[in-house]
Amino acid sequence: MGVHDTGIRDAASADGPRRVDVVVIGAGQAGLSAAYHLRRVGFEPEQDFVVLDHAPRPGGAWQFRWPSLTYGKVHGMHALPGMELTGADPARPSSEVISGYFTSYEEAFDLRVRRPVDVRAVREGEGGRLLVETSDGVWSARALINATGTWDRPFWPRYPGQETFHGRQLHTAQYQGPEEFAGQRVVVVGGGASGTQHLMEIAPYAASTTWVTRRPPVFRDGPFGEDQGRAAVAMVEERVRQGLAPLSVVSVTGLPVNDAIREARANGVLDRHPMFDRVTPTGVAWDDGQEVAADAILWATGFRASIEHLAPLKLREPGGGIRMDDTHAALDPRVHLVGYGPSASTIGANRAGRAAVRDIERLLGRRAPTPVAV
Ligand SMILES: Cc1cc2nc3c(=O)[nH]c(=O)nc-3n(C[C@H](O)[C@H](O)[C@H](O)COP(=O)(O)OP(=O)(O)OC[C@H]3O[C@@H](n4cnc5c(N)ncnc54)[C@H](O)[C@@H]3O)c2cc1C
Repeated sequence: MGVHDTGIRDAASADGPRRVDVVVIGAGQAGLSAAYHLRRVGFEPEQDFVVLDHAPRPGGAWQFRWPSLTYGKVHGMHALPGMELTGADPARPSSEVISGYFTSYEEAFDLRVRRPVDVRAVREGEGGRLLVETSDGVWSARALINATGTWDRPFWPRYPGQETFHGRQLHTAQYQGPEEFAGQRVVVVGGGASGTQHLMEIAPYAASTTWVTRRPPVFRDGPFGEDQGRAAVAMVEERVRQGLAPLSVVSVTGLPVNDAIREARANGVLDRHPMFDRVTPTGVAWDDGQEVAADAILWATGFRASIEHLAPLKLREPGGGIRMDDTHAALDPRVHLVGYGPSASTIGANRAGRAAVRDIERLLGRRAPTPVAV
């Protein structure tokens, strides 16, 4: 590989870590976009870079999404760079459609994702390298692209009495569809897209549904154009620049109103109650004396960034986030986070993958620095 200090030529050695230029962690939208761009500018898979993913199959987090989340219900899915997703049946589960598409994509661009490989820790190595410790040995890299998404870190808020509840508690990450709630009284917690979708699906099966959210939901009835998209991304960007934990997407975009939402609002399925004050053995209760009996509490309370394996690098700010400078950590230009904060959407992940690769090319001396205007 020319003058670059690359290649896993010492991969066979039993004692040393395997050396590459770049380790990509995660093969979802963000990781595959990064791998595509690495390849496009001349990095060779398995020699200059590797992609590691701990899931069993291609598809990123999509492979785990519930079967009733059909491709037709997923509105804002952008194709990966270089290959369109065409002719998908809107009635098929998005988990199947997108896993199939990602499989073809990995094959078409020969990305050679290694799976299942779990990344457990990333630490400082010798000579300015990073050591990536995994379930399948240690890698040594000059740069890292972290694309681990959020699915593996469901967020469960804590409420008094939660552990005393006799019914079932589950999170969106465990939701498998509405049938299992037939005849039950269900409390759904959370004001995001997942919470509203769960309610609309479950209501026809359940004995009753109750919707509770911390803040009143903001329904957005107008078009959501590029300007609004840019403004939403800018708000999240500002937070991560300051090292604060990224906001949820819905908190900056609002809930888009479609016909199904309009109908659910009209027939009371989306009548929202303020957050309860405690969980009781038989349901949920408010301090003003109100109670709702429940057989199940479904926590649609979102996800947090899966970045615990980066803890040894000590990049976290007191605000709980990693302060970012474009796609890399402000404290460490080797460490890129794609699909994080402002790039946590399919289109954002695409763009961040490309930007991270450009930056890494410069960092590794493979591309001339951008001239500074004087
Ligand atoms: C229900 C739901 C619906 C959504 N719908 C849309 C939509 O319509 N449009 C849109 O733009 N966005 C949508 N999103 C957001 C969407 O998930 C993201 O935009 C995008 O798919 C995330 O891609 P990603 O590559 O960042 O993460 P993921 O798809 O989560 O990929 C991360 C990968 O990293 C791997 N990984 C994680 N930790 C490790 C580790 N330690 N070691 C090894 N591998 C690891 C995982 O196995 C996974 O394959 C939705 C999110 C949810 C929850």
